[in-house]
Amino acid sequence: MGPDGARRRAFRQGSWGSKPFVVFRLIKEAVNGSGGVGHSDAPVEARRAPSAFLSEIESAGVGLFWATNRAGLLSYISEKAAAALEKEPKDLLGLPITSLFSQTSIEEGGDTERSLRLTLRSQSKIEEQTVEICVGSGSQDEPALRRWWTISAKPHFNAAGEFDGYRGAARDITRDFETQQKVARQSQYDELTGLANRHRFNRKLASTLNAFKPTGRSCALVMLDLDRFKHVNDTMGHPAGDELLKRAAERLQSIIEDKGEVARMGGDEFQILLPDVDDRGQLADLANRIIHVVSQPYTLGGRRALIGTSVGIAIAPYDGIDAEELNAAVDMALYAAKEGGKGTFRFYSAELKDAALQGAIIEEGLRDALTLGQISLNYQPLVNPRSDDVEAFEALMRWDHPEHGRISPAQFIPIAEQTDLVVRMGEWALKQACHDALDWPGDRKVAVNISAKQFMTPGFVKTVAEALAESQLEPSRLELEITESVFVGDDENVDKTFASLKRLGVRLAMDDFGTGYSSLGYLKRAPFDKIKIDQSFVRGCTLSGDTNPAIITAIVALAKALGMQTVAEGVEAMDELELVKERGADLVQGYIYSKPLAQDKVLEHLGGSGPLFIPDGPPRHRADRMTMLRKIGLIHEDHYYDVMLRNISKTGARIDGLGGVPVGEDVVLDLGAGQLVVSRVVHSHDITQGLEFETPLISDGYSGLVTRHRVSPYALAEAGMPLKALDRGSYPMHIMQDQTRRRPPRFLQHEL
Ligand code: C2E
Ligand code: MG
Ligand code: MG
Repeated sequence: MGPDGARRRAFRQGSWGSKPFVVFRLIKEAVNGSGGVGHSDAPVEARRAPSAFLSEIESAGVGLFWATNRAGLLSYISEKAAAALEKEPKDLLGLPITSLFSQTSIEEGGDTERSLRLTLRSQSKIEEQTVEICVGSGSQDEPALRRWWTISAKPHFNAAGEFDGYRGAARDITRDFETQQKVARQSQYDELTGLANRHRFNRKLASTLNAFKPTGRSCALVMLDLDRFKHVNDTMGHPAGDELLKRAAERLQSIIEDKGEVARMGGDEFQILLPDVDDRGQLADLANRIIHVVSQPYTLGGRRALIGTSVGIAIAPYDGIDAEELNAAVDMALYAAKEGGKGTFRFYSAELKDAALQGAIIEEGLRDALTLGQISLNYQPLVNPRSDDVEAFEALMRWDHPEHGRISPAQFIPIAEQTDLVVRMGEWALKQACHDALDWPGDRKVAVNISAKQFMTPGFVKTVAEALAESQLEPSRLELEITESVFVGDDENVDKTFASLKRLGVRLAMDDFGTGYSSLGYLKRAPFDKIKIDQSFVRGCTLSGDTNPAIITAIVALAKALGMQTVAEGVEAMDELELVKERGADLVQGYIYSKPLAQDKVLEHLGGSGPLFIPDGPPRHRADRMTMLRKIGLIHEDHYYDVMLRNISKTGARIDGLGGVPVGEDVVLDLGAGQLVVSRVVHSHDITQGLEFETPLISDGYSGLVTRHRVSPYALAEAGMPLKALDRGSYPMHIMQDQTRRRPPRFLQHEL
């Protein structure tokens, strides 16, 4: 016996499940025997008795009753049920049962239910299905008054086992339903801003990605948080903070409109989902717009508040296939944007993942690096540009990792700073630098970088004194480089430490000036001997329209007024050297004179005769051309060549490594990670070519350049690759090659 048969048998035996059906059994003979009020042949009195009986049951709140014939037309409806619909039973009899309910109620099931229309058609049992009823004259789509019933019904079969209509009950659940709706809404939307909440957004992201997969559609995920929000909250109070969040949410919503979904994920963190967007140029414009609009001042309770925002962007399927992967990617992108200076955006790239991975490697190996002798010091000269004489050397830490090669201090110092390790490493550097400086002829100074954490350690002054005592170095030959971050700590202690250091007789330099809060107050308070102008003001300062020369002039003037020396950091090109010299910088530190050198090389230089370091570098700073040496791919016809990327700008590149390349030839550069660039050869000399791009590259929000579009992982999967987010690797050539029909290569591949 099939399920239908089982259902029928259960019906005949009267094994009813839920409450209304128990009532049904009691009244079965009275009402159903003849098919209901409208179609009864029984005398009026006989019909009235069960009606009265039903009314009594209905008054007890058990339910409202109805029945249909096999065509789904109402054959019975109780007075109370009709009254709830603001009708008389006689007006309703003969109408389709579905006409009592709103269209959407019939067509759409809830999350787990199937639609009422489908249930009725399949003649199966209706179990507690929620429907919106049409009350009074309200049309099906626009009911005058919104009320909800839950209906239950059993199919009825005649003696021959044929379907004979439904017998059903209904209950008014309007109040519960509305409360439920409200709770459901609250669980999906953020109460403060009215935006979608984390819960709803994550569900939406997962379902969008799932739905887009079969057709290979893309989808961008943008994540931002507010810079300095905490400051507003702390200084202006929580109500002001709430108001700020609301306004920021409104601004975001006004930018996105209906092009995507904006959500508040919690705190000051927002996310935006943009279906069918994968053009990084378009996304960069959007990110800049968001940063600009959100950063406009707010007036909160009559007071002005200024915040900023940082934005991370990841795009499916390129940066992540599923929600978890895409979320991790956008998180990393936002983190990188904040690290790279607030108020910027950043695209996710596989390099960021590598960097995070490297962070983990660094953390693991750093603890033993010092004891294993993997840490050393290099020295970079600070030169007087008027005499080319070296006044001092800055000690810069180097870590030679046995597997990963040389790791930059810019990477490992911030990690060491998270633990006490930086204190130990700093102590070692101080002692080693004093020791090395003793071997230099003359009275050249040695500058040692001191991290804020090391500076704040109680025993710091004592350590400096010990380093001097052990090495017997003149205190005036030791210079400590300190960044502005020391000033965020406890004022009194900072002042005391400065005073004690001065008493020891060492010199103090303010490093990376201009990158932090750059408060004049710090300069007045602390007895600095030297200000180092940060590289970001120096590099590219000769470009026309740049305001950096004015800033350099101002810092030099300020330093002179306070009796401090100035150093221009990061000078690479001759025109930059001329400019900083002309603007009055006392000293220059940069590749133009020398990169950091090992102690034996320093001794070689100092031991020789003639000028120690002569400026040597490119005549001019090249605008947006980034010099680099990177192996990339070049696709021509059906061949893949390896070439060396010498430099790259938004509109073109210079490459090395191929011979016999004619001018005017079209090639495709493979920059890695699915980035293919259609290019034309505009110069070709020997093994060097100049290329012009068909579509310009765009900024990655930081210092890099990226293509607008990438090869989709879905397209690669179609060609037989495993479906996964793009990694750094090159375009898998074999998928587009038919080995049998390959023509011989037209270019000559040189050894790289
Ligand atoms: P910093 O103190 O500002 O050092 C200057 C950095 O600029 C050095 O990077 C140096 O190699 C680089 N540099 C100098 N001239 C040029 C140039 O012309 N072009 C370019 N592109 N770069 C130039 P490095 O050695 O990677 O050090 C990075 C940072 O790591 C340092 O910045 C300093 O903050 C930190 N650091 C290095 N050694 C130590 C140390 O012993 N202790 C502490 N606490 N920090 C250190
Ligand atoms: Mg320094
Ligand atoms: Mg510096």
